[in-house]
Amino acid sequence: MDLIIRNASVYDGSGVEPFTADLGIRAGKIEAIGDLADVQAAQTIDAEGLAAAPGFIDMHSHSDWVLPQPHHGEVLAPLLEQGITTLVGGNCGASPAPIVPGNEGRVKAVGRMLHDQALDYAWTDMASFLDLLERNGIALNLAQLVGHGTIRTGVKGGAPEPAADDEIAAMADQVRDALDGGAIGFSTGLGYAPGVFADTEELIGVTAPLAERGGIYTSHARSYVALARHDDPDQTPSNIRALDETAAIHRAHGVKVQHSHLIFVGDESWSSTDRALEHLERLAEQDADIACDAFPYVGGNTTLAVFMPAWALTQLDTAVSDPELRGKAKRSLERNQANFGMCWDDTQIMWVPDRALARYEGLTIAEIATARGTDPTDTYLDLLGELGPRARIINWNYSGRDDEETSLRKVLKHPRTCFETDTILTGQGFDNPASYGTFPRILGRYVRELGLLSLSEAIHRMTGMSAERMNIADRGFIREGMAADLVLFDPETIGDNTTRKAPDRSPSGIVAVVLNGQVVVRGGEFDASTRAGSILRLSDGRVTA
Ligand SMILES: [Zn+2]
Repeated sequence: MDLIIRNASVYDGSGVEPFTADLGIRAGKIEAIGDLADVQAAQTIDAEGLAAAPGFIDMHSHSDWVLPQPHHGEVLAPLLEQGITTLVGGNCGASPAPIVPGNEGRVKAVGRMLHDQALDYAWTDMASFLDLLERNGIALNLAQLVGHGTIRTGVKGGAPEPAADDEIAAMADQVRDALDGGAIGFSTGLGYAPGVFADTEELIGVTAPLAERGGIYTSHARSYVALARHDDPDQTPSNIRALDETAAIHRAHGVKVQHSHLIFVGDESWSSTDRALEHLERLAEQDADIACDAFPYVGGNTTLAVFMPAWALTQLDTAVSDPELRGKAKRSLERNQANFGMCWDDTQIMWVPDRALARYEGLTIAEIATARGTDPTDTYLDLLGELGPRARIINWNYSGRDDEETSLRKVLKHPRTCFETDTILTGQGFDNPASYGTFPRILGRYVRELGLLSLSEAIHRMTGMSAERMNIADRGFIREGMAADLVLFDPETIGDNTTRKAPDRSPSGIVAVVLNGQVVVRGGEFDASTRAGSILRLSDGRVTA
């Protein structure tokens, strides 16, 4: 054996109770599980008292944009140091590939928000993107989605109306090409331009190749607030209708669908949590193969422009500077803040593109308004002009605020919830704590301290269940023949050490991480020089290295 892990308490990823065993690893795979006392190995780790789990799968990442950077290992070290071995990238409609005539400007503009170092965009289609990463080497495994926003811009530019039939066919051709090039599925970002301009019919048309190839559909949904339409006699909240829209892709094509980062934005939405989870369950029972994912914090990152009404997204400069349009935008913002139960104390600036303005990072809109002596909503509009729409923010009213996290706990407890970081980790600016503590926080705070779910179930939803959702066939479980992606941790001490004001603290309790058979994290520290990751590609409905 290349490596033997002795006497581990093995949580195999299926959700069953742990058993004690030695794990023998050879040529990047789990070769033997059992009593290996008589077997020799080049390396041995004594795991007495430790839990061994499959490597954690981050179901919703944006770090695919950082992987092409030569020094991505340093930037992404916090992910490995919390036990993540596989990223699902390309979420929220934003993938770095394909680059086609027509979308290059947008891809680079989105990239400007999601990575901070200069990047050589030396790829065109999905196949060449993944080949490039494979050639250069990557610090952890990548399962890549192709994004609707990337593809739509190539076909339709920024045009704010639903696509015509020939445009839908052109987009579907590109989706098919990306799936054939190794993408594992397709993502949408229906709260952002240009996804916000697409109707359900367009989404069903564009995703037709998923039915042929068997890839997953993931969706940053149309709405995460509970807003009823005036003309709807049932007063169905918008976040519930959004679940139906995700399920519609399953109904149309029979593929698995994943409702991304299930959050309840603003106080007024929290009370719709039970109804949304019941609706999710009902959809699942009616055989819509649907699940969701979530991060264990009441804050999440997004962009500064996210609050602006849809009509303003194509003319942000004018919407901020023209007195009449600004007045209209301000009234809409104030109405929404009141209706959704949001306040400008909740919105913290994380990163601004112009480094000369980095002094704003870490401050809330309300803090900046107080310092300037200006009205908070006006301050927001001013900042949109000054910092640009792509400034990153973190919003602290997702499924709770401060210690009030009843809604968040319901989501985390729900059996159809997988886990994700959904962070923008670039090495610059103020960090999202989820980049450092997501998985340890679930295992420490929600499993050990609060007893919200059992350790074996939590691990199942971080590993085996996540792999099955994404059709990943060669990992997610500790079984003979599976890839040797493993996390060794101390169940008594594992935990997240971040706070809202100190978001970049390393977690406790992660002892070692094994990636494709190579020990890449020792004593909690990632060796950033390693490139042990694999590209996972879709082929015949199965995703493997
Ligand atoms: Zn998203």
